[in-house]
Amino acid sequence: MVPNILSTDSKTLTEKDLQNEESSITTKTIDENNEQNRSENYTRSEGKFKWELKWMNILYISFLHLCFVYACFTFNFFENLMTTAWIYGMIIIGGFGVTGGVHRFWTHRSYKAKWQLRIILAVCFAAANMNNIFEWVRDHRVHHKYTDTDADPHNSNRGFFFSHVGWLMMKKHPDVIRKGYEIDMSDVLADPIAVFAIKYSMILKFIFAFLLPVMLPVYAWNETWYRAFVSQIFIRSILTLNFTWSVNSVAHIWGSRPFDAHINPTENLFVNCATVGEGSHNYHHVFPWDYKGAEYNSFLTTKLINFFAKIGWAYDLKEPSKKLIKIVTMNRGDGSHSLWEAVPYSANKIE
Ligand SMILES: [Zn+2]
Ligand SMILES: [Zn+2]
Repeated sequence: MVPNILSTDSKTLTEKDLQNEESSITTKTIDENNEQNRSENYTRSEGKFKWELKWMNILYISFLHLCFVYACFTFNFFENLMTTAWIYGMIIIGGFGVTGGVHRFWTHRSYKAKWQLRIILAVCFAAANMNNIFEWVRDHRVHHKYTDTDADPHNSNRGFFFSHVGWLMMKKHPDVIRKGYEIDMSDVLADPIAVFAIKYSMILKFIFAFLLPVMLPVYAWNETWYRAFVSQIFIRSILTLNFTWSVNSVAHIWGSRPFDAHINPTENLFVNCATVGEGSHNYHHVFPWDYKGAEYNSFLTTKLINFFAKIGWAYDLKEPSKKLIKIVTMNRGDGSHSLWEAVPYSANKIE
């Protein structure tokens, strides 16, 4: 696909703007707003962008994936079911750290969390073995603000491979760097638990993504070191990474767009299952402040946040009103939402 040359600030994706629009939202105002945003924010870097590959990252990521393929063909998943279950267990733990922690809590502030929960989120996130919290939050805020433009770190208009993993294999587009500097990160830096996790990110990742996950099967159910290492490092960590990356690639390309037909992000059941509830990506880009990450989300991350809300560790859970969802869906959706069943789509479709 042709790279998107516009670094457009997606201003209509903020809670305040949408709520302001709630009473008067029409096709005309949406289009006018988009046009206005484009002309106000067209700040594309001068000159032609030249790719610069990061060869160390290419070799590292390729090597791990080759090991993953080798492990999938040679590892006997039935030899010890506890070890196989532990692969899944660690995917869930890391998945919660990403979805409930660095995504819905630190990036979007869709709920508030007491220190006990913030520690759990930081540990679970370390177990996912990704960039540190600061880099993750900054990149994701830029992704939402400039979705699928040159300023988006994993711009899906540059194709599936780029948005999935290719963006980690090359130097960032200058617009990504420029817009990244403009992102307000003061809230993250004001959280001592996040700052600790950022400062000691490498040590925490070594302990919670490698050391403990490999040691547990050996000491708890007599697994061999080799099988514990291969199952956790080559299989689990690569699955976790690819499941998370699929939100940026699969859920920006394939699926329906019931809440906004004019953006790339989609609703994708596979991504929902793989990421414990982050596959309602069309909804999420329209209502990023919803702590559920979906209109009706019964996946694990939301259930866990609800559980922590019950014991008082999570509070101020944010959600858009049903009325707002309905207005936006009927004005911008692609007609695949169940709301359209009572209304002929063609009568209301926006072109
Ligand atoms: Zn996205
Ligand atoms: Zn998000």
